Amino acid sequence: MFEDETVDIACPKCGHPNSILVRDFEANSEARINCHHCGVTVKVEAEEFRQRLASVRKELEEIQVEARRASRSRRPRKDDFQI
Ligand SMILES: [Zn+2]
Repeated sequence: MFEDETVDIACPKCGHPNSILVRDFEANSEARINCHHCGVTVKVEAEEFRQRLASVRKELEEIQVEARRASRSRRPRKDDFQI
């Protein structure tokens, strides 16, 4: 599911966020991208990226938990039932 996701890596020179496919990292220990804004080559360590990915996944899990909590606390109304 995450293989087609992209993550924004901020350029260390100009701060421009560059989107990278998660897939590119899962196969390599590091990846090099060219900043779309200033053209500088940005080397991204997979280890650093994995930490980012882990925090993204954690955020997603928290969102899912929130959504579950929200639907659970929703009181059933008369309209929800089909007779
Ligand atoms: Zn840049």
